[in-house]
Amino acid sequence: MRITANLIVSTSLAQQLQIWTLFATLFFFTGLFVSPATGGEVRVPIQERRTWSFDDSGVRFSNEFPGARLNECTRTGPAAYRILIQPENHPINNSAWYAFDVASDREQTIAVTLAYENGRHRYRPKISDDGGLTWNDLPSSAWSQDRETNEATLQLQVGPEPIRIAGQEMIGSRELRGWIEEMAQKAFIQKALVGHSLQGQTIDALRIGPAEPLNYVFIIARQHPPEVTGTLGMIHFVEHLTANSPQANEFREHFQTIVIPLMNPDGVDHGHWRSNMAGVDLNRDWVGFAQPETRAARDLFKQLAARPGARPFLLLDFHSTRGDIFYTQGDEHPTFPENFTANWLGAIQERMPDYEVRRRGSHSSNHVTSKAWGYEVFGIPSITYEYGDNTDRDLIRRQATIAAEEMMRLLLAEVKDKTAASPAAQPQNAR
Ligand SMILES: [Zn+2]
Repeated sequence: MRITANLIVSTSLAQQLQIWTLFATLFFFTGLFVSPATGGEVRVPIQERRTWSFDDSGVRFSNEFPGARLNECTRTGPAAYRILIQPENHPINNSAWYAFDVASDREQTIAVTLAYENGRHRYRPKISDDGGLTWNDLPSSAWSQDRETNEATLQLQVGPEPIRIAGQEMIGSRELRGWIEEMAQKAFIQKALVGHSLQGQTIDALRIGPAEPLNYVFIIARQHPPEVTGTLGMIHFVEHLTANSPQANEFREHFQTIVIPLMNPDGVDHGHWRSNMAGVDLNRDWVGFAQPETRAARDLFKQLAARPGARPFLLLDFHSTRGDIFYTQGDEHPTFPENFTANWLGAIQERMPDYEVRRRGSHSSNHVTSKAWGYEVFGIPSITYEYGDNTDRDLIRRQATIAAEEMMRLLLAEVKDKTAASPAAQPQNAR
């Protein structure tokens, strides 16, 4: 409870009363989330957790760890195995996530074919030989993809120590919760419980910066379980806001950044391709808000924005797709801060002449994404911030760092230039 209260800690008694009202409201909603009656039902088949042991060959496969995805396994030859990977439901976006352990009583090379139900091979295999702490690409000489069958076949050296194979380096709920705890050690960061997933896991937020002033940047990530590169970008971006640099220190004097790093913990733990446990794509639930995970984010952001004098400036939602791209409003859609998106992306492009900043601008009031919601409700730039599945990890770090610096620079200019104007004025296009 301490951490929940701290997110909204303040100084004056009047403010504290408001805050306790807010706290109570959040707690009230949080309580609702736990109830199956309002929190939705599990509507997807739950992946059976087990180990497949092939006694003749001494080979065994397992999906008995969080984030694993392996639905069936058969032996198809002396040293050949076929793994079936199923989505949690369909039709579904082709985010064909897989993750499993494999070991053998004796050292041998085996061929493992990944076959997908209602999907196609998408993620280049990664390998870890230390239980998921460190990851490498499986060398391209060790796997091939069949474009006709949409399958992939991996040549794996296996032995008594299990190796872990997955579609991306696994940054799952354990790793993200560890990161959240580590971040919350900093004096200027508070962790708060803001809701529960459909299966009752906590949904945590970080507040970066002091409780005042009430200028907000909202960040969410991992609505879609396999989107690890979006998580990497979010981590680098957020860590840059917490740096001990003159710019970050000044930014934190003027802005609170509210981060929900793990929107879909159940989906991540179950190795889902896309959905939460109700089989709902959370980034299609920002109008109906039928799911507890999206309601937690909505209620937090709306409650914070409703505080007297509060002013949201930006909503970023981190994802992964084929290549790096920003989905934004079009320049014809006015925002507060004015022209922020064009200025921000232009500044990133200027600092990265060897990199193409790609943007697609659009807005429709009947869209059902966080991006449409943020713009409709707050009139702020609301951006789906996408990294490619295969974007070089050092490039993700570099781009996220520059993007964080340019965001801080532009937003600081907003509050410093315009403090004298009317800081609490509502944006004209806020709806
Ligand atoms: Zn996504």
